[in-house]
Amino acid sequence: MKTRRNFIKLTALGSAAVFTSSCLTSEKENVSDSKLQKDIKKPIVVSTWNHGLEANEASWKILSKGGSALDAVEAGVKITESDPNNTSVGLGGLPDRDGKVTLDACIMDHENNCGAVACLQDIENPISVARKVMEDTQHVMLVGEGAKQFALEKGFKETNLLTEKSKQAWEKWKEESKYQPVINSENHDTIGLLALDENGNLSGACTTSGMAYKLHGRVGDSPIIGAGLFVDNEVGAACATGMGEAVIRIAGSAIVVELMRNGMSPTDACKEAVNRVVKKHKDLTNLQVGFLALNKFGESGGYSVYAGFNYAIHTATQNEMIDAKYNREW
Ligand code: ASP
Repeated sequence: MKTRRNFIKLTALGSAAVFTSSCLTSEKENVSDSKLQKDIKKPIVVSTWNHGLEANEASWKILSKGGSALDAVEAGVKITESDPNNTSVGLGGLPDRDGKVTLDACIMDHENNCGAVACLQDIENPISVARKVMEDTQHVMLVGEGAKQFALEKGFKETNLLTEKSKQAWEKWKEESKYQPVINSENHDTIGLLALDENGNLSGACTTSGMAYKLHGRVGDSPIIGAGLFVDNEVGAACATGMGEAVIRIAGSAIVVELMRNGMSPTDACKEAVNRVVKKHKDLTNLQVGFLALNKFGESGGYSVYAGFNYAIHTATQNEMIDAKYNREW
């Protein structure tokens, strides 16, 4: 909803903000910048699912000392990537149907710099490789063998990511599956993490082992800038989790940011993106998608197709889980 409060706040983002509506321009003149500065809740970090609590802690260590959002988002999701007990991200991630753990990740900063890796094997922290792609190359995305070669050149260590626990789960899956990837809402839980630092800069990171038992070579939304993650420092940031194909089809995270640009609150923007997912898919069986957004004022919100999506918020006074609102029950 374009409430007057959000309308005014968004128009006061500063001269860098780009708004096309003449209405928005005229409101801007009435707003005192100093009052708005006080309204901004920063630093803040938000991230998807229960694993977000621990990831937020790592981000908070950086943010609370005045560190950058970019460093904070990388440090946060690395915790999840390196947790062997987490079967949907990084080390210990459930493999594809051929038993290969393939990782997708991307990172984006306040200046629209971004980097990504997709279908990367044998490297524990794909988010750090994505950051190197962003900072040390002229490219945005590297995939597969090329991404691995680049990582090794940059000094990343080769690691077997298939833990005994995930290997056993895959072997059990093979017995029943007939080699058919089955869409299962239980087996994919990306971490998307968004931070606003003391200087008012936003960054985001998104990393996953993707849908369990997927076809080898499948890439989801998580490493795709505009789908799994998008940051526009004038407005806000958004990330996605759930069925990546559905998120890609609607350019999910970019849409959420654009909706916030047009005055929607983070929750309403996520809700509208979910509405689009619902509208564009005839069959919603098991089609869980969740969006999480954070705007320039430190306001956050999430929304999902089905009940059950949650996210963690860390501010100076809290690190807690929030149950997102949703479109329908399972
Ligand atoms: N979005 C990820 C993918 O489709 C999975 C997830 O978020 O659980 O690969």
